[in-house]
Amino acid sequence: MSQPPLKAAIIPVTPLKQNCSLLWCTETMRGAFVDPGGDLPKLRQAIAATGVTIEKILLTHGHIDHCGSAGIFATELGVTIEGPHRDDRFWIERLAEDGARYGVAGQPFEPDRWLEDGDTVTVGNLTLDVRHCPGHTPGHIVFHHPQSSLALVGDVLFQSSIGRTDFPRGNHQQLLDSITQKLWPMGGDTAFVPGHGPMSTFAHERATNPFVADHVLESA
Ligand SMILES: [Zn+2]
Ligand SMILES: [Zn+2]
Repeated sequence: MSQPPLKAAIIPVTPLKQNCSLLWCTETMRGAFVDPGGDLPKLRQAIAATGVTIEKILLTHGHIDHCGSAGIFATELGVTIEGPHRDDRFWIERLAEDGARYGVAGQPFEPDRWLEDGDTVTVGNLTLDVRHCPGHTPGHIVFHHPQSSLALVGDVLFQSSIGRTDFPRGNHQQLLDSITQKLWPMGGDTAFVPGHGPMSTFAHERATNPFVADHVLESA
């Protein structure tokens, strides 16, 4: 029986039901958490259930529900943090204040590696591409594994919706450009894990999403 090279488990965390993903390389059984925003007992359970050895934490952006507990968890596991893009530093610096506001544990940290458009990150023997997708936050990035036709897009795009742009340094047009210029070229059959809610594919969103479907943008 041949196994897919990459497996993923989605674990909703925090009162905001943010989709934390545990990604792992089936060849090495080494893995990474993407956006471990909180609820660390659930994440420890996922490690035990899968038997994966965690080697790093990957972050899409600096919002509390995505990375409030990243620094705490990285220290506990003895692993590094890669991402987001350095333009989200101001969000990471205010995690303690935002945590108090949303009732989530939040602790600022310094990523071991800031990521940029065109960078790659590794998880076991897997290589994921990094795309910078500003708009929801200025330093938002997404991770793409072409061989699996899978993308982890954080709060850029959701099934039937798109990320909010009413935060400091949010920009609606920039978000639309990120979606059409960085996500769509990954291919319609690409499945994506959004930051919140169910998975979808880019083809499905191009046909039906009320904000970014082809017919909506063409008539704008
Ligand atoms: Zn966000
Ligand atoms: Zn979010």
